[in-house]
Amino acid sequence: MRSNAVIFSILCLVAGLATQAVAERAGGAATPAAQATDADPVKVLVDRLDLEKYKATIKGLTQFGDRRQGTDRNRAAVDWIEAQLKSYGCPTERIKYVYDPPPPAPGRGNAGGRVTTGLAPGGGRPRGVRTPTGVNTDPMKQPDAKLRALNMPPTTPGPREEVYCTKVGTTHPDEMYIVSGHMDGHGWGEAANDDGSGTAIVMELARIFSNPDVRTERTIRFALWNNEETGLNGARAYVAERQALQGKENPPGSGRYPEPTWLGMIQHDMMLFDHGAPRADGTMSREQRPEADVNVEFQANSKFAAQSQALAWALEVANDKYATDYPASVGSHMTNTDSTPFMEVVAAISVRELERGTQVGNGWDPQWHQPTDVFTTYTDQDFRLGLNAAQTTLGAVATLTGATLRK
Ligand SMILES: [Zn+2]
Repeated sequence: MRSNAVIFSILCLVAGLATQAVAERAGGAATPAAQATDADPVKVLVDRLDLEKYKATIKGLTQFGDRRQGTDRNRAAVDWIEAQLKSYGCPTERIKYVYDPPPPAPGRGNAGGRVTTGLAPGGGRPRGVRTPTGVNTDPMKQPDAKLRALNMPPTTPGPREEVYCTKVGTTHPDEMYIVSGHMDGHGWGEAANDDGSGTAIVMELARIFSNPDVRTERTIRFALWNNEETGLNGARAYVAERQALQGKENPPGSGRYPEPTWLGMIQHDMMLFDHGAPRADGTMSREQRPEADVNVEFQANSKFAAQSQALAWALEVANDKYATDYPASVGSHMTNTDSTPFMEVVAAISVRELERGTQVGNGWDPQWHQPTDVFTTYTDQDFRLGLNAAQTTLGAVATLTGATLRK
């Protein structure tokens, strides 16, 4: 079975990386920095990530305001993202679908399941102080008049597009990892963190893997979903349109696989802010907490839980080896993100600043869907958490796809 083969190869990777790390420690590597030497092509690729480039990509996305789906500013952002990906040398394609939402149900609150079950969305148990969350819909809460005007045109139902680009593998072009984020936002800010920060990780990885000296044995697809905020509609459209095309050579004999077989899907959503829990009076620390971490979540109640967990540990191992500042933590309650439509089909995980259900859902990110989610809200300590997530995913995906450098 393909699924067993995938989990076996991921487990081998985790075991291999761990064994190597132990051997390097026992074998007298001179310094911790020698754990990953310059001879390691993955380390060379991780070192091509740069805080200022990451910030510049987020800044570029914020020029389109909240990038709300179904608006001209959203369509302009899709065009801009595609132009950037092309400029990196990553060939692009688009998914087209239609979004005609049903009228909103009256009186729908934001209980998030906790009132009835005591558990957070995703199944985790919330702890500590909970502060209110929700989506801001009041334009006047945005104090920046220029940004308010940019975000003013309303969304309209109809056709939608989203863009992806692909790095084709050399020896296994028919097998693929999907690396993704969502480019739409809402709440009358700039969607800088939700999800400019994840979109920029995907774009930065596309840039680095598209460097002309980089080879990967397996294929990598970099996808920027639209319509996440309305119910994961862009990711759902991708699964609906392309799941059945997996692994089919087209045209036959061409060696081309428009939809390589999915080996795993890694989603990035809200990557910057881990200032801890709200205090008893509802206030938050202004500083990134020293214990900040990159949260990697799989869903224990999904069909591919075992495979997804193995993929999550592959990221944790890569984080240990390659991330410069912040550790990774693995959790089992992935929820409310674009990896959800994939989790019954393939190994699927979410990478985030916090746990989605128990922490973001408990008010740990006060900018979430608010007018304050703008570029200037965040410090370099915040942006650095996102950069560490990029180092983590890049390290894992480069290892999983067999990345090498051509001399
Ligand atoms: Zn959001």
